[in-house]
Amino acid sequence: MNHELLLGWWDTAARDLPWRRPDCTAWGVLISEIMLQQTPVSRVEPIWHEWLARWPVPSAMAASSQGEVLRMWGKLGYPRRAMRLHEAATVIARDHGDVVPSDVETLESLPGIGSYTARAVATFAYGQKCAVVDTNVRRVVARAVHGAGDAGPPSTKRDLRDVEAILPEDQHDAAVFSAALMELGALICTAKNQKCADCPLFAECAWQLNGRPAYAGPEKKVQKFAGTDRQVRGKLLDVLRGAPGPVPKVQLDVVWNDVTQREKCLVSLLSDGLVEQSDDGLFHLPGEGIVQQSNDGRAPASPEPTASPVPTAARSSLAPLPSDRIVQQSDDGLSRLPAEGIVQQPHDALSPPPDRGIDQQSHDGLFPLPDRRIVQQSNKGTA
Ligand code: SF4
Repeated sequence: MNHELLLGWWDTAARDLPWRRPDCTAWGVLISEIMLQQTPVSRVEPIWHEWLARWPVPSAMAASSQGEVLRMWGKLGYPRRAMRLHEAATVIARDHGDVVPSDVETLESLPGIGSYTARAVATFAYGQKCAVVDTNVRRVVARAVHGAGDAGPPSTKRDLRDVEAILPEDQHDAAVFSAALMELGALICTAKNQKCADCPLFAECAWQLNGRPAYAGPEKKVQKFAGTDRQVRGKLLDVLRGAPGPVPKVQLDVVWNDVTQREKCLVSLLSDGLVEQSDDGLFHLPGEGIVQQSNDGRAPASPEPTASPVPTAARSSLAPLPSDRIVQQSDDGLSRLPAEGIVQQPHDALSPPPDRGIDQQSHDGLFPLPDRRIVQQSNKGTA
């Protein structure tokens, strides 16, 4: 691949995003990488600014409750990402002098940081030469290098090998090149309606030279959102994020009519630690069982008593008595349904882990392309 073509395009076409600017810290880059997984730039950018203002360093986040982090996460989706980032912040503050590590191995040892995120931070925050492979990069390589219509199923080893093979020798150029590959996949070589006429690689693109063959790999699944457990979990969390304190179960029951699905989702949120139930049967965000919080995520100086338990008549047939716990914890620390001893799933099947490395979901309908970030300076010194 002609590196100069892509590096030159980057200099003129890359988006000016805050986590790409020279003054952005590695902490800011890490937050952007976590947020951008399965969430588009347009939704991430305002929340990213709020987070950096609220938590300019990892220790600031570590000092906040998980509940506050979840509130500030808002509607970015997949909220376990926020919880894992809070855990990572705690470790960075405690074990790494409040500075995000720069080497891939140490980054991968942090909670919630997988291969993709570790490589992205090492590359985009510290300018290292690493193969950084996401869905966009896989698609560009599949077309421009292999001449295929699109990327097939991900393969960690093969995908890393493919990208390592085309990185420039020079470390700085390699870091910029990695960012440019992603940007090309996000803006030009998109899953549908790719803009080949505007592509810097057009003249040497193997897909063009092959006669633009159609994609011949396995059919790609379109992940739906409406009606899924992910939607229900989001609605339940919305109630808790918007409440000034713990809420009775009736406030959760109104968000979804399918009782079975709603109860399953509530149990999964409890099991994941995204929701807690206090001894009086009320539900709240993690760590907010006593202190009330306002909608802006700040705790008032004088906590007020919280809501009363739910009247029996107001509860659904599956709702527990206020004194019941939806999930009980046994001596081995595992969460079980009361009296049934059934271990709960750590999370529902529709919610991926916070970091899936290069095995990111495919570019499909409801999950926008993970438009991504960049190195802080281009090879020509421009941001
Ligand atoms: S020419 Fe078209 S298919 Fe080839 S890399 Fe560019 S945008 Fe992608």
